[in-house]
Amino acid sequence: MAQSLGIPQLRVPPPAAPLSGGLTDRYGRTATDMRLSLIDKCNLRCTYCMPADGMAWLPQRMLMTADEIVRIVRVGVEMLGVEELRLTGGEPLVRKDLEFVIGSIRAACPELPISMTTNAIGLDVRARALRDAGLSRINISLDSIHPETFAALTRRPMLDKVLAGVRAADEAGLGPIKINAVLLRGVNAHEAADLLEWSLEHGYELRFIEHMPLDGDHSWKKEKVITAEEVRALITEKFVLSPDPQERLGSPAERYEVRRPGSNFGSPPLGRVGLISSVTEPFCAACTRTRITAEGRIRSCLFSHEETDLLEIVRDGASDREIAQRWREAMWGKPRAHGSDTVGLSSSDYVQPERTMSAIGG
Ligand code: SAM
Ligand code: SF4
Repeated sequence: MAQSLGIPQLRVPPPAAPLSGGLTDRYGRTATDMRLSLIDKCNLRCTYCMPADGMAWLPQRMLMTADEIVRIVRVGVEMLGVEELRLTGGEPLVRKDLEFVIGSIRAACPELPISMTTNAIGLDVRARALRDAGLSRINISLDSIHPETFAALTRRPMLDKVLAGVRAADEAGLGPIKINAVLLRGVNAHEAADLLEWSLEHGYELRFIEHMPLDGDHSWKKEKVITAEEVRALITEKFVLSPDPQERLGSPAERYEVRRPGSNFGSPPLGRVGLISSVTEPFCAACTRTRITAEGRIRSCLFSHEETDLLEIVRDGASDREIAQRWREAMWGKPRAHGSDTVGLSSSDYVQPERTMSAIGG
């Protein structure tokens, strides 16, 4: 038998990121869905997202310019297999050159589906121009249709403006419109059925998102989260849900058909609702996201503690190949589950990332 020399075993290094192809990771996933934050600033202060006083905003020079955004998106699409783009923030409408940014992306990537997540403030006067610039469709965040609740939750009395924005988006043809809502116990949870009623009446698809530990106040507690299961109970008097027969594909939302209690399941549904259980049933195994922050850093996961600076090498004159390779390497290290290879959101070892949702680009 060979004698041991007492030398520690060499660790087999993990295989390096591939030098070609798309944004794959060590767990066999491929990211094709790009979330790009245009700005960290916002004109609301939703309690589940931002502190009352706002944040220390990024200085203008640190934000990606329109040209830099286009370059990064084009490399993603042409070299890395990115198939769709969602613009987000902060609040994308706070960016004055938004129409120009979208128009420039559209010119570089004529076939790319471009959507945007927004609070809709100011959309009433910009929806048509955004559609003309090349925006394909829109997701609007709206947690209450009652003015007092809206004001308490967002710390701004601006429900009218948001509703005007939703109407304008609809009229401009930015549908199908999806409405995102976060429910908070004792604040708007009791209004879940009202919000669903309103969304169905207007033909919008409502998605309830579980409150994630990415709030600026760091006051998130697992026990306080209104789970997807609880949402079903909250709306049960007025609505019955049955699984949507259409395939879920890469969507984090579990989709349901909505009917009135007692109605026949063969009858056409009133509409659909999505439940996004990011906390209680994370969708990590099928995640297809790659995220770019407003200052051009790659985050492979919402809950990451690490980022990779892409804008730095863009500004240093990197070639498209170099940009693509840095991106591949960043995504290769994507953690197995929310933020970590070992612990999930429900674990007591879970550590909230420093960045809040608005600073990541949700
Ligand atoms: N300002 C835009 C808006 O509100 O739609 C875009 C950015 S916002 C960060 C994107 C989405 O993240 C919104 O739908 C918002 O409701 C959601 N969000 C923010 N903080 C969250 C949190 N802590 N947990 C779950 N969702 C959150
Ligand atoms: Fe602003 Fe959107 Fe965060 Fe609300 S959720 S504070 S609208 S970034």
